[in-house]
Amino acid sequence: MAPRQTLILQPKYASEFLCIGPECEDSCCVGWNVFFDQKSCANYEALPDSPLKLKILNNLKPIPDELSSASKPNARMLQMTAEDECPLLRTDRLCGIQTTLGADALSSICANFPRIQYTIDKLDGAVLTLACPEAARLVIENKSLLNNNAEGHYQFNWDDEKTAGESLQGFFWPIREFSIRLVTNRNYPLWQRLFLLGLFARRLDQFADNVKSSSGLNFGRMFNEFDKAVHSGHLRSEMVKIPANLGLQLQLMSQFITLRMNSHACPERMLDLIRKFKTGVNRGGSNSVEAQIRTYSDACINYYEPLMHRNPYLLENYIVNQIFRTLFPFGQDGLLTDNQNSSTDASHPNSIALPSRSYLQLATQFALVKGILIGLAGYYRAEFTPRHAVDAIQIITRNFEHHQIFLDQSYAKLQSAGHDTPAGFATLLRN
Ligand code: SF4
Repeated sequence: MAPRQTLILQPKYASEFLCIGPECEDSCCVGWNVFFDQKSCANYEALPDSPLKLKILNNLKPIPDELSSASKPNARMLQMTAEDECPLLRTDRLCGIQTTLGADALSSICANFPRIQYTIDKLDGAVLTLACPEAARLVIENKSLLNNNAEGHYQFNWDDEKTAGESLQGFFWPIREFSIRLVTNRNYPLWQRLFLLGLFARRLDQFADNVKSSSGLNFGRMFNEFDKAVHSGHLRSEMVKIPANLGLQLQLMSQFITLRMNSHACPERMLDLIRKFKTGVNRGGSNSVEAQIRTYSDACINYYEPLMHRNPYLLENYIVNQIFRTLFPFGQDGLLTDNQNSSTDASHPNSIALPSRSYLQLATQFALVKGILIGLAGYYRAEFTPRHAVDAIQIITRNFEHHQIFLDQSYAKLQSAGHDTPAGFATLLRN
């Protein structure tokens, strides 16, 4: 036994979130499905008769098969208005249920959003989705996002010698601490940190495979070797040889945008962002691919990179929050059960091992954010600010990351094009 300790890192900043209600420019009460769990439905049915009760019950409807979950058979969803708003949203933009019955009467989804609760090793945590504009500002614009964690943190004891028979999930806290430390290590450019995270995910795949085959790979040794390699910097010389491929990045951005626009209705905020992105990459006046690549490259070098250089915390915070939000590299489901290789469809993201699959999702979302921000930098040029980046990240999170069909199709596209390896991804991540 070789006991070790690791920091238990939790997104403490989630507790600082406050909804701005009527001031919100992209309210969660508009344009989204609102689900009520079984308990909330029963509570509303038990209310004394009133116009509000009638309004709630009249607008509840069964959840269609494609949106339903077998584990929640009696849940219901609200019928949105013709304007795609929650029918309980009042003309003063306040929630009719909360204003009349209090916050305790809200369904869990309405009470919690944008917080997502989780419990690991009997420790409760909450993370924020950046689909909420106020949450995006709180997270992305924070120059010391993790400072709060330095106080009152827990230590987690783990056994360096754990090998076969120990699931990868048992190392959740060391993996989280290492992943966060890696992506905030400014000794490497951000794209190299993400590349290294991809290599780390591959090592975790190997450990998970070895656990299944009981061949005894030692987690502590694997962890030490990788940590040393990162610390020594000897992988740097190999990484700098990886070529950037802005043409490929631009092509993929266009394909992702088309996929999303074909999969679901697009709200005006998203259309406006896409218009600006397209204007940014078409500034040269020519629609030729070569001219667009030149404009994209110019926007990257002259406007995107200087802003990110001056404000390195912006995209770092985005990735840190993604690591927290997705319980990287497991996901909420992966911590309940390791369902790797559960799909027989090789084009489906579930057909690859859990850590690599999580990494693929993280890196895809980062590549999408980065690509759209470069186009936006080309649109705003010298006027491009951190707030433009924050707004864009919120819109992308709400309209891309929260659409499972888009996510599945985009991962399948990357896999089929051979970009599902760290090397393949490096060409997308590198500017
Ligand atoms: S999106 Fe966020 S700030 Fe806006 S209404 Fe919802 S919780 Fe409040």
